[in-house]
Parts: sequence; structure tokens; C-alpha cells
Amino acid sequence: MNLSIVIPLLNEEESLHELHNWIVSVMEKNSYSYEILFIDDGSTDNSWPIIETLSHENANVKGIRFMKNFGKSQALHAGFAAAKGDVVITMDADLQDDPEEIPELYAMIANDKYDLVSGWKKKRYDNVVMKNLPSKLFNWAARMTSGVKLHDFNCGLKSYQNRVVKNVEVSGEMHRYIPVLAKNAGFKKIGEKVVKHRARKYGETKFGMNRFINGFLDLITIWFLSRFGKQPMHLFGALGSIMFVIGFLAAGYIGASKLIRLYDHEPTILVTENPWFYISLATMIIGTQLFLAGFLGEIILRARQGNDRYKVSDTVNL
Ligand code: UDP
Ligand code: MG
Repeated sequence: MNLSIVIPLLNEEESLHELHNWIVSVMEKNSYSYEILFIDDGSTDNSWPIIETLSHENANVKGIRFMKNFGKSQALHAGFAAAKGDVVITMDADLQDDPEEIPELYAMIANDKYDLVSGWKKKRYDNVVMKNLPSKLFNWAARMTSGVKLHDFNCGLKSYQNRVVKNVEVSGEMHRYIPVLAKNAGFKKIGEKVVKHRARKYGETKFGMNRFINGFLDLITIWFLSRFGKQPMHLFGALGSIMFVIGFLAAGYIGASKLIRLYDHEPTILVTENPWFYISLATMIIGTQLFLAGFLGEIILRARQGNDRYKVSDTVNL
């Protein structure tokens, strides 16, 4: 199969027919073999019955329905697990992404030039203050911390090699950072394509302002995990050692200066009256705790039964 189109959706009943018909017309024009995977992320409107109807009319339409709203990342994860096409394309259900972009996105992946191509909504049709400015800042921070040079991480329209979607774990609200996850999994050929963006036709946005707060927190998590996730001791051990050494030197200084004063028969003060005493005490305790955090991290890593310690890119005769 050429193409899997993965569409996460929450309460998008007005858009689904139009979106489906449009995608099908693009598929038929280019004679692709395809599947459309609708993942209903706990809609409370008529979205699911509509998906069922579409699936009766068109055998290429498949659906997954969540028990409740688990979030866009989880919906994408379910779609990725089910996707059978050589090329996987994700798009939003709200008609803001243009199906006419599919052939080019498909070609960029199918000729093996890229592992992942991300859409770039260069000209956006969203609220300037609520979305465009924060999103510039957000993309800048994501570029800086991840080293992935994309202008628009959060664009719903992206295309992937099948092996990419099978090897990234999209969880939490990490759908914003799939290119970073892909890079961390070892996929280096990450491209970008300017895509047409349209104003939301029906309904309203499902993410409020807290998308930016959560987005930045997730960014810190992802930066931390990619840098130190496999070796927490490298961070905590280093910080802990530095702290401990500072404390140790401060304690040594207190002791030495007291001895010198005693030797010179000068009056001495109680160690607790020396500010260095508290600095030494605090840094030694914090240093030990950081060290312990590093050890615990290492132990948890070793105890965890997981298959995400490495990624296999190919197998033969298996
Ligand atoms: N969506 C989803 N689960 C959620 C929130 C959103 O599947 O919990 C879907 C939504 O239906 C749409 C896509 O994710 O297809 C993008 O959402 P939206 O258009 O609200 O985001 P925006 O375009 O405002 O960034
Ligand atoms: Mg939208």
C-alpha cells in the first residue's frame, strides 16, 4: 500500500464528509493505493457514526475509537501502530490542512530523500496574538534545544517513512515534538515543505492557551531525556560532585582558619557563627542528594523492562 493517512479528531462532525471526499479525490487523481485512518479521540458529537458510515461507503476508510478523550498524541500513536502504508501522512481533521499537499509530501518520502517531512504553515490563518507570536517563540526554543531546524514543529500535516512512525513513542503531549523524537531515534533526514493553511471552517480549536505552558514543559522534558535520559549519573553525578567539593573545601577552610588562630593565640569564634559553616553544610547535603538521585536514576534505568533502549532499522530472514 502506498499511503496511510492518519487523522486524529475530536468533535469534528461538520468537517468529516468534506475532508473524506477531498482526500479521496486526491487519491484517485494520483491512483494511489491508500487507507484513511480516522482516530476518534473520544468525540461526544456525531463524529463516530459519520466515520462508520464513511467506512461502509469506502473500504479504504478505517476507524479507531477511544473510550474517552486521551489526547492528540495518543490518537497519533494508535494510528501509527495501525498504519500499513509505505508512506504515512498525518493531518488535522478540521480542514485547516490542505489535502492537495499530499502528492508532494508523498513524493518527498517515497523517493527516499527524507525520513520525515514536516509542513510549514508559512502564512497562517489563526489569531495573531493568541497563536502566531507565541508559536514563533515556541518554535525558536524548540530549534535551540533540539538542534532540529524546523520553522513549524506543531504543524499537523507531516509525512513519514513507515519505519519512522513504528519507531517513535508519541506519549503525553509530545505530538508537537515528533521530529525531535525521530531525530533521537536516529532518523536524520528531516525535511520541511511550505504548506497551504486555511482558517478553521467549523467548530473551534481544541487547545487553549495552556498549550504553550505544557509545550515548554514538554520541551524541557524532551531535552533532558535526550541528553541525560540514558545516563542520569552524568548530570546528577557531576552536579553532586561539584556541590560536595564546594562544601568540603568550605569545611576545610573553617577548620584550617580555626587552627591557625588557635596557634597564633588569637580569639576564635564558634564554627556556627561563621557563615561558611552553613554554606558548607548546605552544599554537602545537596551534593549527596544529587548524587543519590543520579544513582537512583541509573538503578531505575537498569530495572526497567523496556524495548526502547535501542531501535532496529532493518532485519533479514527474521
Ligand atoms: N484533536 C484530538 N484530540 C484532542 C484535541 C485535538 O484528536 O484532544 C484533534 C482535532 O480534532 C484536530 C487536531 O487534533 O483534528 C488539531 O486540533 P485543533 O485544530 O484544535 O488545533 P489547532 O489547529 O488549533 O492547533
Ligand atoms: Mg486546527
